[in-house]
Amino acid sequence: MHKSDRENAGLIGMSATHGIRAYERYVGKETIRRIEAKARPLRDMHILHMNSTYYGGGVSQLLASLTLLMNSLDIQTGWRVVHGPPDFFSVTKKFHNALQGADINLTGRKKEIYEQVVHENAVRNHLNHDMVFIHDPQPLPMITHYRKKNPWIWRCHIDLTKPNRKVWNYLAPFIERYDAVVLSCREYSQNLKTPQVFFTPAIDPFSIVNRELSENAIDERLAHYGIPTDLPLVVQVSRFDRWKDPEGVIRAFQKARKQEECTLVLVGNVATDDPEGAEVYRSLLSHRGDRIIVLSVQDGALVNALQRRAAVVLQKSIREGFGMTVSEAMWKGAAVIGGNVGGIRYQIRDGENGFLVSSVDEAAERIVRLLRDPGLAERLGHAAHETVRECFLFTRTIEQYLDLIGSFEPEFRMSGNVGSPCR
Ligand code: UDP
Repeated sequence: MHKSDRENAGLIGMSATHGIRAYERYVGKETIRRIEAKARPLRDMHILHMNSTYYGGGVSQLLASLTLLMNSLDIQTGWRVVHGPPDFFSVTKKFHNALQGADINLTGRKKEIYEQVVHENAVRNHLNHDMVFIHDPQPLPMITHYRKKNPWIWRCHIDLTKPNRKVWNYLAPFIERYDAVVLSCREYSQNLKTPQVFFTPAIDPFSIVNRELSENAIDERLAHYGIPTDLPLVVQVSRFDRWKDPEGVIRAFQKARKQEECTLVLVGNVATDDPEGAEVYRSLLSHRGDRIIVLSVQDGALVNALQRRAAVVLQKSIREGFGMTVSEAMWKGAAVIGGNVGGIRYQIRDGENGFLVSSVDEAAERIVRLLRDPGLAERLGHAAHETVRECFLFTRTIEQYLDLIGSFEPEFRMSGNVGSPCR
């Protein structure tokens, strides 16, 4: 924001946040100059992002960093959240599951709750921004309630490898009102009239989850939660969600542990827009023991400490639009074993910078291999860090958003190339 705009908005300085130049040490001067040049013509645009939670899950992590950095580039970028009662989020979680391939009983009542709550949100949100980004299905029908004067973009973070057709066909007319759709991978492309653009999210090295931590700080966080460090740690950090396959992680750990001693730590949180989390967490409690630790907490510093101290990080998802936790752990040089699905296949190259697995047995075998061969773990971790530096750091996401915002011509048509430079 220019000084006068900041003053109009009652803001004094931005010193609490990192500006784009802080990223220079990771990506070099040239990239920063390019980003600043791309941002310059967009200065003072007024842009809005809307999703369904301020906290829990990758989208809120992404928006937290994205909105601050865009403002530091003088693009006035706001963030709103769709509000609704528990039955609204129960319906939208079912839509989310169905978009990832689950079955659904798509009743008129579900559609009514969904559309009614979104309509109420539209009444109390006055959206006349230069560009509006709507994230994921929860606020998707917002677009039907405005006389649209500027581009609207639907940014879907879900694994759309095999969406349930009933839900897709119901949502498609909403989606086709948008001027562009952004999906994380090409494999998710759909038969739509709306142009589709593909780019993955990325991680912010300055967030609480990712910033540098001293060994003392790591010890302190682990001790705070009573996590034993006498044996190597096998870790999965994930919302409590069946798609993350926590039961599969426990089974893989139990198999691996017969061959190599280790401790499993499953840490998760429950996002406010995910009513199934508490039940998934409860279902895991019977597995708890001296060597299986299951924690439901929201503590970014603990996530950071675990990803840094782990001998092996798992993300054994069954579906995954893009695994922020995968890139976070790779950035820290961890040896990561990911499910061979969705966005994780773009993040991990099997055997080069981590492992991709398709079964509990494969996961167990890779855990054992990594525990027995620290040299291998270190090599994979080193390559993993480089992959994230090259392809999945926040500067890349910023640049792709700038390209996308700058690509709209009058009539809201996109021009230019907005795809991923990495793959
Ligand atoms: N996360 C966290 N605490 C937890 C679990 C997850 O802070 O207990 C963060 C995690 O570090 C990551 C995000 O939430 O930044 C999850 O993003 P991801 O893309 O892995 O999964 P999603 O929840 O969006 O499906």
